[in-house]
Amino acid sequence: MIIKLNILIFIILIISSLCNAFMRNINRINNIKLRMAFDDEDLPLRIGHGFDIHRLIEGPKLVIGGVTIPHTKGADAHSDGDAMYHSIVDAILGALTLPDIGQLFPDNDKQWKGADSSIFMEEAYKKMTERGYKIGNLDITLILQSPKVKDIKPAMKENIVKLLRTTDGRVNIKARTHEKVDSIGEGNSYACHVVVMLQRVK
Ligand SMILES: [Zn+2]
Repeated sequence: MIIKLNILIFIILIISSLCNAFMRNINRINNIKLRMAFDDEDLPLRIGHGFDIHRLIEGPKLVIGGVTIPHTKGADAHSDGDAMYHSIVDAILGALTLPDIGQLFPDNDKQWKGADSSIFMEEAYKKMTERGYKIGNLDITLILQSPKVKDIKPAMKENIVKLLRTTDGRVNIKARTHEKVDSIGEGNSYACHVVVMLQRVK
């Protein structure tokens, strides 16, 4: 009887140490995942960069900065192909050390087919505020051979200011051609670069 009790205690001890080791591993994996998801350093400022490019083809609408621009071509994309919104989102996600826009909104997911990219901007805003940051400032460079967007820039800016709940003085849009060089210069694609600085608010 005593021997049987000893064996039972021995088995219980082995099971409990195996459970402990398993839980330690789970905790370690969760901690690594958390660190990868958001490195929660108490940084007062965070910088992010975003870049996007889309082919231009006949058929779809051309939507940039949330504005539909009259043109013979539009972006070949799963969503509405708004490279300005996409690069802003990637810049914010990058500053927060989060996965990029392609990982958060996969282009093989039917729910994003033809999606209005303001949805992605709202999500980036949500993630930024959840982590205690606001827009410090945003500098955008749109590279488009044609049409000229000088007169459309204020409408793009208004959309961005509204979606990111920021102010005019914190958002800048520059636009330039690609000097007729390569696919962008030949009007077969367009691209956008964004640099963002996030400010900690809490
Ligand atoms: Zn895109």
